[in-house]
Amino acid sequence: MPKKDYYAVLGVTKSATEDEIKSAYRKMAKQYHPDLHPNDKAAAEKFKECNEAYSVVGDPEKRKKYDNGTLDFENSFNGGGSGFSGFGQGFSASGFDDIFDMFSSFMGGGSKRTSSRASVGADISQTVDLTFMEAALGAKKTVTFTRLEKCPTCNGTGAKDAASFVTCDKCKGTGRVTYQQSTLFGTQIVQGVCDKCGGSGKIVTNPCRECGGKGVNSKKKVINVTIPAGVENGSVMQLDGEGNASRTYGGRNGNLLLVIKVEKSNVFTRDGNDIVVEMPIPFSVAACGGDIEVPTLNGMQVQHIEEGTANGEIFRFRGKGIRTARGTGDLYLKVKVEVPVGLGKSEKHTLEQMEKVLSNKNYPKRKAFLDEISKLYNK
Ligand SMILES: [Zn+2]
Ligand SMILES: [Zn+2]
Repeated sequence: MPKKDYYAVLGVTKSATEDEIKSAYRKMAKQYHPDLHPNDKAAAEKFKECNEAYSVVGDPEKRKKYDNGTLDFENSFNGGGSGFSGFGQGFSASGFDDIFDMFSSFMGGGSKRTSSRASVGADISQTVDLTFMEAALGAKKTVTFTRLEKCPTCNGTGAKDAASFVTCDKCKGTGRVTYQQSTLFGTQIVQGVCDKCGGSGKIVTNPCRECGGKGVNSKKKVINVTIPAGVENGSVMQLDGEGNASRTYGGRNGNLLLVIKVEKSNVFTRDGNDIVVEMPIPFSVAACGGDIEVPTLNGMQVQHIEEGTANGEIFRFRGKGIRTARGTGDLYLKVKVEVPVGLGKSEKHTLEQMEKVLSNKNYPKRKAFLDEISKLYNK
């Protein structure tokens, strides 16, 4: 790896103090930061160069070795033969975030990235049990659950009153702390939410009695929800902001996730928005024809069955399926011809008498099959 003059890169002299180097580095990094020069390769290169320079001369131990020519470049940068690769290689996504957080704080904007990550309340997952009909037609349900809510007594501050605070000594009231983190570029300064005060910048000296200083209380909550028609088993409805309050002062609420559980029906099965009913009908109705009552989502409906209806025949009822915003399904009736069981002597006799007067033409399928069998043996 070619040895560069890192002092020249940062625009300082070889005798610069640690503070001078640090301030020069910050100035340069700010100037060439990729956020300010999107798609500018030269700036990116320059930015990379000052990071590299600072990772060496900003570190007293490495600076000493660099000065006397004993710095092991390959091992220092962990880059093997390829040397210092900079962005995009061996550098994690979280590392990027940290770098940007660091720079946005330099530029006085403060970092919202870190704070928003840390201050959202937890989501709550709650199962909602529905009958088949409720899921198909939609329903109004009452959901009872427990969540953390901002304490009304202290307005979420956790303090008994306005005089019950001192400024956090760790973050000096800013709610944010910077700490050092080792990265490929050497030690970086990273900013995050203050762990001592939770980002409020204040330490409670006299806690609120209601919440014990936590700023949130566990509360039983009852909400009414309208479940739309056609929800499927396992689907999730999200109610934004109805989850737990953030434990960090000023943070957003989490969401409430309603997990829909639909009870199986013994009458209907579902295929998308279509409904299928498999219904047994007496064999005499199938043979002679007649009216049967068919269950639908809106009650019973009379359907005429033609004489000679076969087992498994399907009738379609258009528009009688599930009605959703994305369309309306149909209802399919599949008849299952049931042969009577448990016949008494006289009923059997009646049936046998009837059977005697029937011929092959009354059983066209059976006749056709018997003909096939004859062909098989009488060539
Ligand atoms: Zn409170
Ligand atoms: Zn603090």
